[in-house]
Amino acid sequence: ISPAPSLVHAFRHSTANAPERTAVAYFDGRLTYRETDELSDSVAGHLAAKGVEPGDRVAIMLQNSPHFVIALLGAWKAGAIVVPLNPMYKSAEVGHVLADAEVAALVCSDRAWDAYLRAAAADSPVRLALTACELDLQSRDDARVLNFERLPVPDDADDLLAVAGQGLAAPEGRLPAAGDTALISYTSGTSGRPKGAMNSHGNIMFNAERQATGQGIAEGSCYFALAPLFHITGMVCELAACFTNAGTLALAYRFEAGAVLDAFLEHRPVYTVGPSTAFMALAAHPDATRDHFSSFEQISSGGAPLPPALVEKFRAGFGPYVHNGYGLTECTAPCASVPPGVEAPVDPASGTLAVGVPGPDTVVRILDDAGEEVPFGEQGEIAVRGPQVVSGYWRMPEATEETFPGGELHTGDIGFMDADGWLYVVDRKKDMINASGFKVWPREVEDVLYTHPAVREAAVVGMPDPYRGETVKAYVSLRPGESADGDDIAGYCKERLAAYKYPRVVEILPELPKTTSGKILRRELRSRSRG
Ligand code: ATP
Repeated sequence: ISPAPSLVHAFRHSTANAPERTAVAYFDGRLTYRETDELSDSVAGHLAAKGVEPGDRVAIMLQNSPHFVIALLGAWKAGAIVVPLNPMYKSAEVGHVLADAEVAALVCSDRAWDAYLRAAAADSPVRLALTACELDLQSRDDARVLNFERLPVPDDADDLLAVAGQGLAAPEGRLPAAGDTALISYTSGTSGRPKGAMNSHGNIMFNAERQATGQGIAEGSCYFALAPLFHITGMVCELAACFTNAGTLALAYRFEAGAVLDAFLEHRPVYTVGPSTAFMALAAHPDATRDHFSSFEQISSGGAPLPPALVEKFRAGFGPYVHNGYGLTECTAPCASVPPGVEAPVDPASGTLAVGVPGPDTVVRILDDAGEEVPFGEQGEIAVRGPQVVSGYWRMPEATEETFPGGELHTGDIGFMDADGWLYVVDRKKDMINASGFKVWPREVEDVLYTHPAVREAAVVGMPDPYRGETVKAYVSLRPGESADGDDIAGYCKERLAAYKYPRVVEILPELPKTTSGKILRRELRSRSRG
């Protein structure tokens, strides 16, 4: 079946088939498909009345809440391009994106608008703010009290929920076409200055459809949004896949392991996908039991390396097998994943877990430095071509040419493919450590660290060294209740890794720095290791 041209089409289709089914579940709050459709129609009508034209940019800076869903569908129904923004962004980061994407309207929490977004927007083209009472919920009890409750709306902003409740019709003739840009997704910048990948509606629907039907999840199932919706994984594999499958999207504001475990018992989701760090946090939570995970038919990890030791710990402790998946913002979330009911092999030589097999109509090639394809088993840069690959970066022709030569995405990741077609990601090209001329890939060392019983999170970086050029340093955080000494952990690695690979220094931190999409920030640790 060819996918619907856009999620708006798919959502309307799901609404026609099951209008009274719950589309969004948020703590004790519920919105049906019909309600969500009407509320987002009204947001679209309001945006159009305020002069938002097709192709204009609407930024959404909200946590995982019903407000996010209503704003997103509303903006698309008005023909706008959505710029999802991480609510953790500070003033300068937001200011950069608002100016770069020439954002016309901003949807955000009223608290953030008052605190700093008004000032950030003052120097930008933003001419309309829609705010929502999206309080910093600390607990489920707060959520019960505050859900949909209004604070006084700032004078210079419109109240998102009031606008949504006005009963306006969506403007005519603005339904997006598959080729239209749906999102400008700024990469989270683990590697530098954010670039805006332009995901089309067709890119999103190809992956959403694949995720909805290809993963074998029954229509109408409950999807739990473990990944943030502003990140491409949450947006596509959770929100878009769920609505394409006429399912219920369960939201819990933002990732907090205890609240997420509660929500698993309340909503009994059958599918979720999150970064591996979320599974580490869930597995380490003292309240986690097998019951919390018993409703799941499939759990997937995506967007960050998945250590094989975590997959085993998770299965032994809680039951489900965690499926790996590989993707980038530039290919609208996954381009390779582990099919349902199948377990990914582990490469015997390196101990790396396969990330999956390329999806349908997706061609993955492994290239050497000259751009030639290498034989099976040999390492090189992963390059991807397929219906989910974006056409380029917003207003960055040179970066587009460099990353997408001839329309093929050059990922900057080093990997290899085995003779059975399984893809393995070794590491990011730029994270390689050069120790006395030997290549060390941080991932391989991290995978060993994760087999240590006390280790909760691990990240490995190169540290300047007068003799070797660089030497290997590890940062780890420990599982609750565990104690271990850095030298002992280094000794544990020494027994398992070649002399040039094992970390000479292991520093224990209470928590490793992460992006809000849950990825460990090696960049930050690298600068720390450089003093
Ligand atoms: P930036 O591109 O600015 O560095 P980012 O890391 O947040 O930001 P994303 O598009 O979110 O960008 O992440 C894509 C990267 O995540 C991939 O290039 C790859 O390095 C890593 N990644 C994704 N899935 C996996 C996986 N299953 N195993 C290993 N690495 C993965």
